[in-house]
Amino acid sequence: FLSDKSAKIFIAGHRGLVGSAIVRKLQQLGFTNLLLRSHSELDLTRQSDVESFFANEKPRFAILAAAKVGGIHANNTYPADFIAINLQIQTNVIDSAYRHGVQKLLFLGSSCIYPKFAPQPIPEDALLTGPLEPTNEWYAVAKIAGIKMCQAYRIQHNWNAISGMPTNLYGPNDNFHPENSHVLPALMRRFHEAKVNGAKEVVVWGSGSPLREFLHVDDLADAVAFLMEEYSDLGHVNVGSGKEVSIKELAELVKEVVGFEGDLVWDKSKPDGTPRKLMDSSKLAELGWNPRISLRDGLVDTYKWYVQNVQQ
Ligand code: GDP
Repeated sequence: FLSDKSAKIFIAGHRGLVGSAIVRKLQQLGFTNLLLRSHSELDLTRQSDVESFFANEKPRFAILAAAKVGGIHANNTYPADFIAINLQIQTNVIDSAYRHGVQKLLFLGSSCIYPKFAPQPIPEDALLTGPLEPTNEWYAVAKIAGIKMCQAYRIQHNWNAISGMPTNLYGPNDNFHPENSHVLPALMRRFHEAKVNGAKEVVVWGSGSPLREFLHVDDLADAVAFLMEEYSDLGHVNVGSGKEVSIKELAELVKEVVGFEGDLVWDKSKPDGTPRKLMDSSKLAELGWNPRISLRDGLVDTYKWYVQNVQQ
């Protein structure tokens, strides 16, 4: 992968949090032939459009970072969108990539594929060993189907499709929607607006006790380049930071980075979701990759980006 910087690489979802970080990383590494399509240029839920795209463009590599994503509230509110759009996107892209000669494809999922009460930290083989967390099972079922599709194509067609499962990600180009985003961007925006408006209090959802693991998206992008170069096997690979914080600790840290000086108010009518989801990323560490960006540094970087881009 790394030896031919002119290889044509399709990055599906290049405007999102994950895809944009992968583009930055590949450009940094010197790749010159990135194939990018915005949503309006190519609707990945349209099977025949995706098919013609691959037939015409014939990329050598494909990285599937396009997905319908959202936080706990969005997953609860739009279950049909989360299952249907994700199944459509990934089925179309994986199948067309195979049919039109893509040499290697990387599919990206999420830590929510694992059972709600999986052992912690969660090893890769906990997949499909128990019931899912109900607040995001629709998204999770789609992502599990994607992993299995990559495995099935490898088994039946000897095709090089791999899957990486990142933990909760954050960074530039995240979705900062007040209700539908994930906790970290939601809190960053709420603290920022409270600071700017001189508010005394900021509402945080749930009890504050759930534990979450966060990874800066630039670390994920680095892991993606690593996996494209080094990994070609049947099993999916966890990509985490190995560090977990409670939502309360996260809220305090975001508050400090943003510089909000008021109080936190906990809205216990909002769901906590799964109590804990720390991934066991030792498989990736054994392959030779480790994260570099601490949560504090990553938050400072993300807040800088947010302030520069908040108008848009
Ligand atoms: P999850 O990791 O799939 O549960 O997704 P989220 O990032 O949406 O939520 C993580 C945790 O943060 C849950 O326990 C939420 O209740 C809590 N949380 C606290 N405040 C917020 C908020 O403003 N938005 C979101 N999305 N979650 C919040």
